[in-house]
Amino acid sequence: MSASGKLASLRLPPLPTVGELIKLYKLRAEKQLSQNFLLDLRLTDKIVRQAGSLRDAHVCEVGPGPGGLTRSILNAGVMDLLVVEKDSRFIPGLKLLSEAAPGRLRIVHGDILTYRMDRGFPVDISKPWEGDPPNLHVIGNLPFNVSTPLIIKWMENIANRTGPFAYGRTRLTLTFQKEVAERLTASTGSKQRSRLSIMAQYLCTVHNCFTIPGRAFVPKPKVDVGVVHLTPLVQPQIQQPFRLVERVVRNIFQFRRKHCHKGVEKLFPAACRIELTQEMMQKADVDPTLRPTELTIPQIRDLVNAYAHICSIEPSLLSYEFREELRMKHLARQGNTPVDTFMDTPTSPLQPC
Ligand code: SAM
Repeated sequence: MSASGKLASLRLPPLPTVGELIKLYKLRAEKQLSQNFLLDLRLTDKIVRQAGSLRDAHVCEVGPGPGGLTRSILNAGVMDLLVVEKDSRFIPGLKLLSEAAPGRLRIVHGDILTYRMDRGFPVDISKPWEGDPPNLHVIGNLPFNVSTPLIIKWMENIANRTGPFAYGRTRLTLTFQKEVAERLTASTGSKQRSRLSIMAQYLCTVHNCFTIPGRAFVPKPKVDVGVVHLTPLVQPQIQQPFRLVERVVRNIFQFRRKHCHKGVEKLFPAACRIELTQEMMQKADVDPTLRPTELTIPQIRDLVNAYAHICSIEPSLLSYEFREELRMKHLARQGNTPVDTFMDTPTSPLQPC
């Protein structure tokens, strides 16, 4: 069979429209789960095209809901589509799709934040990290309330080659609130440049594909939506442990409008703050009067390397948290607990940028 004949044979048979399914199963959008549906299949086809060729691919779709994007992914000729949906009300409609695409759609009723994607696909689709990406894609019209923690989690997975990246440099095609999409792709000097820009761009090539106006969704969200494509880099631009990079970048960007040394200072306890900040800035050869948004990734790499060097001489610095020191001082002022600036505080969990 010719390639186009094979693709045609994989197209879905006539089905009730997504709108009809929503009515049939009484699928009212739940605000709590950030449910905004895409019913226009030309638009879902356009999102799917951003992933590149999906012929014979394995795909994980995040939050399929009533299945509009799911239909476009199936029509693109994938061999195996695994969907992860938290809301049980969508499962019957997805089962109907699964029957229309025999053997090609697997449904997981679960939470993408805890789902073990490293177990979801056959091991033999893996590709060496240094080679081409595997024929595995993650695609999703993400719920807004999940998208930022999820992308930070996946960034850490990329750094550690775990989760979806246990198979190699798995590509991601995802929707975000427009402002988040802009931050992910913001270049040096731009107003949107943020912690998220650095964390994404030191690990991936990031492409802001196009914007979908809020009015294209049902119900209409208050914001527009950006479609972003990410491909993990063979060689991360910063070669230090993810948590260390995250710690330095978080501190630098906590004072976005001030000179970057202000944030760097907060990596160190008061007693050695001035001295170690100077040492770090000099070692990295970065102008301390640059704003965080003006720093290039190589400059941030040099700052992270300088910090790693300082911490290799004084490892206790790794457990210092400025915010924790402030909290302790505040409690002490209220007479609750003594101040101990060198307390061995745990690193704070990753927070949205
Ligand atoms: N993909 C559908 C579309 O484009 O019309 C629905 C998109 S809607 C913005 C987000 C979907 O993600 C909903 O179906 C919602 O139930 C689901 N969802 C929300 N949180 C989730 C989670 N933690 N894990 C998996 N699915 C989730």
